[in-house]
Amino acid sequence: MFPRSISNQLLSSVLAASVTAAIAGCAVNPVTGKKELSLMSQSQELALGTEQYPKAQQQQGGEYQVDPALQSYVSGVGQKLARVSDQPQLPYEFVVLNNSTPNAWALPGGKIAVNRGLLVLLEDESELAAVLGHEIVHAAARHSAAAMSQQQILGAGIAILGATTQNTGYGDLISLGSQLGGSAYIAKYGRDNELESDQYGMKYMAAAGYAPQGAVRLQQKFVELSKGKQAGGLEALFASHPPSQARVDANIEHARQLGSGVTNRTQYQRAIAQLKRDADAYKSYDDAVAAVKDKQYDRALSLTRQAQQQQPKEAAFYALEGDLLAQKKQYQAALQSYETAVQKNPTLFSNWLMRGMLNAQLKNYTAAERDLNRSTRYLDTAHAHYYLGQVYEGQGKTTNALSQYQIAAKAGGDIGTKAQARVQALGSNG
Ligand SMILES: [Zn+2]
Repeated sequence: MFPRSISNQLLSSVLAASVTAAIAGCAVNPVTGKKELSLMSQSQELALGTEQYPKAQQQQGGEYQVDPALQSYVSGVGQKLARVSDQPQLPYEFVVLNNSTPNAWALPGGKIAVNRGLLVLLEDESELAAVLGHEIVHAAARHSAAAMSQQQILGAGIAILGATTQNTGYGDLISLGSQLGGSAYIAKYGRDNELESDQYGMKYMAAAGYAPQGAVRLQQKFVELSKGKQAGGLEALFASHPPSQARVDANIEHARQLGSGVTNRTQYQRAIAQLKRDADAYKSYDDAVAAVKDKQYDRALSLTRQAQQQQPKEAAFYALEGDLLAQKKQYQAALQSYETAVQKNPTLFSNWLMRGMLNAQLKNYTAAERDLNRSTRYLDTAHAHYYLGQVYEGQGKTTNALSQYQIAAKAGGDIGTKAQARVQALGSNG
């Protein structure tokens, strides 16, 4: 499962980072044993996955932290399947992302993520095993190495967040903040890869003791959801893994050959109990994000505050409040909300970035420099470099400002254009 806009940027930066010379050659698919074209060696793939996994998580909302026990539960199910896969030696990792979009994805080398928005749609552990088994096959069979094109390999750059930053007011903050975490990853695997992942994923399920029938129910559920209007928010999942009756039928046939196993419904329901209790809180938050897109800022503010009441541990609810207060020009209150977001989740780049951008605009240069630098530790963004440029320019440190703008200018997009303009202005003054 995988990208929208971020995917292409990510995959291109991913590839540029570690693949300087693309070596096209033949390799044996470790799952099927067939000979296939491969653009990367397995060691390049491992390096790529390891480097990009934390960055991809940051861009997709970061780790879900409200109930840490859910992380170890999902990881446990994933590792059980990984051990019986055709490439058990890969450095598999599994993470639950704080993202409402029902989606899951795999990076090369077995770096796998599943959104909390998908977990709440599943009934039991065998259905989770179907999702994770499928993603394990994408990694084990090296599907992404084969899917990445020459053009993607030639791309480069640090993360561009895609916010429209034509206006230099605080509108930047809201347009940037509200889109973070809402993006989804969509890998364009071919139909054959999808069928292969279904089939071998079910084999792994059976080998790990799960009822392969879970994969049938999962696919049936997706077919149902893709019909009619319920598909809202499911585009990411369906763009990457188009559901079809053909896939359901294939899974039914494979399940028949594989026999029976456990579903672990009770264990699964216990594991997602907190997520289910918080369904209303995340619904309020998702409605708030939608209200921001419709420029209904007052409505968005009251919805995100409602979400805070429902689940006070979730940092995202305070980060959005900060964006909305900044938009209302209540800057001190906005800084308070960002402070709360940073305290509740200090490992998400956007909590630091948003506060750093606001501090830079308020000319709190020392605080801004600290926040922006901290954000780049989690995800290096053109926005951080542009606003660091603003900080140094404000402090009269022209050489420092210039070098920050030069980094941001390389990123392209609106922020790159703005940075380029500052490079020229400072250059002509010097
Ligand atoms: Zn897939």
